[in-house]
Amino acid sequence: MTDSSPKDEGRSEQTRIVHPEDRLTPGFEAFPVPVTRASTIVFPNLAAMRKLVWSDDSQWRYGLHGTPTSITLAQRLAAIEGGEHALLHPSGLSAISNVYFGFVKSGDHVLVPDNAYSPNREHADWLAADYGVEVTYYDPMIGAGIADLIRPNTKLVWVEAPGSVTMEVQDVPAIAAVARARGVVTALDNTYSAGLAFKPFEHGVDISVQALSKYQSGGSDILMGATIAVDREHHMKLKRARMRLGIGVSADDCSLVLRSLPSMTLRYAAHDRTAFALATWLKTRPEVAAVLHPAIEDCPGHEIFRRDFKGGAGGLFSFVFDKRYSAAQVDAFVEALELFDIGWSWGGSHSLAMPYNVSTMRTAAKWPHEGVLVRFFVGLEDEADLRRDIEQALTKAFA
Ligand SMILES: *Cc1c(COP(=O)(O)O)cnc(C)c1O
Repeated sequence: MTDSSPKDEGRSEQTRIVHPEDRLTPGFEAFPVPVTRASTIVFPNLAAMRKLVWSDDSQWRYGLHGTPTSITLAQRLAAIEGGEHALLHPSGLSAISNVYFGFVKSGDHVLVPDNAYSPNREHADWLAADYGVEVTYYDPMIGAGIADLIRPNTKLVWVEAPGSVTMEVQDVPAIAAVARARGVVTALDNTYSAGLAFKPFEHGVDISVQALSKYQSGGSDILMGATIAVDREHHMKLKRARMRLGIGVSADDCSLVLRSLPSMTLRYAAHDRTAFALATWLKTRPEVAAVLHPAIEDCPGHEIFRRDFKGGAGGLFSFVFDKRYSAAQVDAFVEALELFDIGWSWGGSHSLAMPYNVSTMRTAAKWPHEGVLVRFFVGLEDEADLRRDIEQALTKAFA
């Protein structure tokens, strides 16, 4: 964990990310973190080797478990979220999977919000089908009502705010408080906020998960994930699961994420500015029934967003077309876009669009809209160019 010096106090997050004060290579003073690749790490003698314990984060044991490059990235990510410990994974989904392996065994019960990132749902379904784990999906807007769903064998509550695709903002503090009082671990998929706009540990969350493939990478070229924790016991459960599963990351990939990190708050603000402007404009369009952007009133949990999020909403939002447009017409709209590409993942410089039939993705809470939903990731292009592109696609598809 980075020790922040007294002079850190009062400095903005942006300055602290640029000046992390954790230079690991005394005698070689440069801004980039050196790329340290290793499988074998050599010990000065057998006594030193025999003293190693897996739980001691300060020892170098084997390249799989960490090198100065990966540990520096982990520490910087923990510092951004206000956590104490971080572990890196080869994808965001691997980080999600590790939370299950760290905290859940056969016979245990897990609560998953109905709007969770789809591969998280699929992971939960897999554990339920093949490994004897009980899974309940819950209405993301349940808040403190989660108390009624907690059973004696409940071990983990997932939260995701805003939810993937449908953007409901959960009352994370209310859910986390109930879970903590009942001794249940809360894990938040905090990818949307990149750890910038929402500080999970100030709201009672135990574990934060990040898909670093998104804003932290920023280049649509890296797959990586992280779990971040405050409590050392939680960290140790995750660390043991990660070690048993043989999970590690490449130092080269870490160095690319380290290179992107100092510009992340600026990129996040730029995505946010353009996305909010486009979302506000889309709300005025007659083709659009609802705009699901957390900073706009249509979005369930908008008030919670205003209460708990500081520093914007980033580039991701969804909107629902009026029900008079068929799925085929909405497909034609998405394909008519020239500056929005069709593809998974997001957080890079390019805008993306994807249509969803949400009613087939839900099992716990009824989806209130009849029209087709489109999710936008708004990249770093010029706002007026993107608006003109959307206008021409609307005309082409619906004229
Ligand atoms: C992309 C994403 C993930 C998974 O990240 P990968 O690195 O692609 O595995 C997890 N959660 C959310 C909300 C995401 O958007």
